Amino acid sequence: MQKKLTFVISGPSGVGKGTICKRLAEEVDGIALSVSCTTRHPRPLQDGGMEVNGVHYHFITPEAFSRMIEEGDFYEYAHVHDDFYGTSRSFVGKQKEEGNDVILEIDMQGALQVKAADPEAVLIYILPPSYEELEKRLIGRGSETPEKAKKRLHDAASQLGYAYAYDYVLVNDDLDQAVRAVENIINVSRLRTAEMKNVIDQIRQSFKEVL
Ligand code: 5GP
Repeated sequence: MQKKLTFVISGPSGVGKGTICKRLAEEVDGIALSVSCTTRHPRPLQDGGMEVNGVHYHFITPEAFSRMIEEGDFYEYAHVHDDFYGTSRSFVGKQKEEGNDVILEIDMQGALQVKAADPEAVLIYILPPSYEELEKRLIGRGSETPEKAKKRLHDAASQLGYAYAYDYVLVNDDLDQAVRAVENIINVSRLRTAEMKNVIDQIRQSFKEVL
């Protein structure tokens, strides 16, 4: 069996990471989307509903988050905007054991922790086409108060430079194209020699008799 990979997707709030990840989970075989833990509160969705515990995030208290840090339960975690966010180590391990590659939609602090722990992890950064477009999307989705939206735009401006640290960068100006671009990155990464080592070994083994 091929080795299982971790894909990290980052980019500023409102760039469309969540939508892209959701589409990938639905459309690409062998992909599991990690559900992070966070100390922030559920927020409204564009369809009028609210984020659901266990689906969009595991919404936990700051005390529970601290306990998980102490117990080493996080594969990575970070303080983003005004809250803590982290990826469960056991989720990633379980998904890989079940034969899935894992997608983490996390910020650049978490991305760098993942790359340090697993140099084969594939880091993908999504850029907005422009400041104006991001502002329009962030205000338009109406999930944040205007102050929070402003803070997120400010954070975006200071974080775009981290794109240089990623393996791949794409601009989300057309959702379908962005989804296909990430799918291509996933497919190509799955064919890297390091990931295919077991397959090479297995096929070489079948040629043993003629060697
Ligand atoms: P939001 O509050 O908009 O859902 O997420 C805010 C930021 O936190 C986004 O940049 C998102 O990628 C990041 N984030 C979400 N989950 C995690 C996580 O588990 N770890 C880290 N490091 N960042 C996360």
